[in-house]
Amino acid sequence: MVKLLQLNKYTFAGTQLKKICSCVFLFVLSCRLHSAQPITSPETLTPPDTSPVFELVTLGDAGGIQDGNLSAFLLRALSEPNYIALDAGTLVNGINVALSNNAFEALPVITDKTLSAPGNILHHHIKGYLISHGHLDHVAGLLIASPDDNEKPIYALKSVNQTMSDTYFNWQAWANFTDRGTPPLLNKYQVIDLAPQKSLRLKNTQLQVTAFSLSHPLESTAFVIEYQDNLFVYFGDTGPDEVEEQGKLATVWRYLAKQMQTKKLKGLVIEVSFDNRQTDNLLFGHLTPKWLMSELTYFYSLVDNKQQFQNIQVIISHIKYSLKSGLDPRDKIQQELQQGNTLGFNFILAKQGQRIIF
Ligand SMILES: [Zn+2]
Ligand SMILES: [Zn+2]
Repeated sequence: MVKLLQLNKYTFAGTQLKKICSCVFLFVLSCRLHSAQPITSPETLTPPDTSPVFELVTLGDAGGIQDGNLSAFLLRALSEPNYIALDAGTLVNGINVALSNNAFEALPVITDKTLSAPGNILHHHIKGYLISHGHLDHVAGLLIASPDDNEKPIYALKSVNQTMSDTYFNWQAWANFTDRGTPPLLNKYQVIDLAPQKSLRLKNTQLQVTAFSLSHPLESTAFVIEYQDNLFVYFGDTGPDEVEEQGKLATVWRYLAKQMQTKKLKGLVIEVSFDNRQTDNLLFGHLTPKWLMSELTYFYSLVDNKQQFQNIQVIISHIKYSLKSGLDPRDKIQQELQQGNTLGFNFILAKQGQRIIF
C-alpha cells in the first residue's frame, strides 16, 4: 500500500493535493479489491509507462463446484480482435455473462449474421485453447461446446493432451473431435504439444506462448504469454513449492525475473483455492493466501527493480465455491490477502464477466 501511495508523487505536487489524491487512489483501489470491477482509475493516477496492452475477460472465476462458472479466461492484445482461451471450464455460459456485462464493447466484433452474439465470439474471435491440465473444472466448457465449435488448435503440454485423448475424446466420454487418438478422428481440433520452456507463436494471433510444468495431482501448466516486449502469465492449478518439493514455481519466477530485465510483466492470473485455515496436508496441489504471499515474496526478492511490481496486476482465480453457510470464501480470502500484503501487490479477485485491461 505504501508503495502504491508513492505513485502519486509522479503526477502531483503539494502536500494537500497529494493527500486528496492518496484518498482517491485508496478509494479506487479498495473499490477494485472489493467489487473486482474493471480497472477504471483515472489516467492521472497512472504512472507514465502503464498504457494498457492486454485485455482479459473472465469467463469463469471459480475452482469448482459451481457449474457455469469454472476456470476460463480470454486474453488478447488490444491491438487485435483475436483471443486465446486460457482453460475452458466454462465457455458459452461465460461468454453470455461477459456479453451481458458489455465486456466485449471495445472489441471490433465480426458480425456474422448466421451466428448469435456468443456464436460470433466463439467462432470468430477465439483462435485457440491453452489447457493447463485435464481436470474437468478446466475443460468442461470446451467439451460441451465442441459439437458446435469451429476448427481451432488446442495447445497443451504432451501429458495434458494425452489425458484429454485418453479420458474425454475417446468415443466413450465424448466423441473425438480432435486429430489424434481413438478413431474415427473428426479433426475439428488440431492438438499441438507444447515443449516445456520453448516459445511458440499462437496461430492467428500476435501472441507467443512459453509453457512451464506445475505441481498438482496431475501435471499442470503455467503459460507465459508474450506480445512485443510485454508479458502476461496464466498459472493453472498449482501447489506451493515448499509443500510440493519440486521447485516448479521457482523455475517460473526465475524465468520471469530474468525476462523483466528487458520486458514488462503486465499481469498474472494465479489461483488461491482455499483460505488460510486449510492445512498443508489438505491442499491437494493448491494455494492459500499465505502460500501465495510466500511465493510472491520469493519472486519479489529476485527482481532488482522493485518499482516494476507497481504495474503488475495480480488476478486471483479458482476460489472454491462453498455450500456452507457463513462467510463467503471470496471475502475471507480477500481479507487474508490484504492482511498479508506487506509488499504492496495489486490484487484483483477475478469475477465472471469482468473485463480488465492492463
Ligand atoms: Zn481446478
Ligand atoms: Zn486441478
